[in-house]
Amino acid sequence: MALNLIMLGPPGAGKGTQAERFARTRGIPKISTGEILREAVQAGTEIGLRAKSVMDRGELVGDEVMIGIVRDRLQRPDALSGFILDGFPRTVAQASALDAMLDGRDPLIVVDIVVPEQELIRRLSTRLICKECGQTAPSGDELSSRCRKCSGELVQRTDDSQGVVRERLRIYHASTEPVVNFYRARPTFRSIDGAQAADQVAADLAAAIAAAGNGNVR
Ligand code: AMP
Repeated sequence: MALNLIMLGPPGAGKGTQAERFARTRGIPKISTGEILREAVQAGTEIGLRAKSVMDRGELVGDEVMIGIVRDRLQRPDALSGFILDGFPRTVAQASALDAMLDGRDPLIVVDIVVPEQELIRRLSTRLICKECGQTAPSGDELSSRCRKCSGELVQRTDDSQGVVRERLRIYHASTEPVVNFYRARPTFRSIDGAQAADQVAADLAAAIAAAGNGNVR
């Protein structure tokens, strides 16, 4: 059975970190829509140019663009035997479109990472990213440190500045929290505590995915 996973949770919940780790150990692609957009911005493509100001304000890029990006990516051969989506779906319209795209494929396993708001704000205001390769630095690394992967300069994400973080959390509650309710009643939905140490979250995530995948076919 293909592992078709999505990670839900507010900005700063650890979706990217955990998805990266899980994808590496299971040998499936991690598909992060935020990363795809940041790459498009850096490369100066048409989508990137249009997305940049929206992202800098902490708002959501339009559903049509996002659905198109994910539809193309999920059709690539490496995603046919499983994938982990990070940052998509962020609206109920995206979630419905994803169901339609995956019609005939193995059921989606949905994990929601829950973290209290105060902790999210703390994490986002201290998060650093590599200017060169876009990798999020492990917590504890400082502005003066270098990226552990490519030695690039570490900087704050433009959308992690204080005002933008509040806006992203507001938009999360308004547009993305309804996505959790869209999936909640499914037998393959699980929720985990993301406020714990990263290793414990990884262990809970693996256990939740194993439990959700066990005979819970839609
Ligand atoms: P992330 O790295 O997941 O926090 O995404 C960074 C930014 O990219 C978000 O604040 C949005 O502006 C945009 N973005 C990423 N994924 C989506 C999506 N599924 N729908 C709309 N906008 C998105």
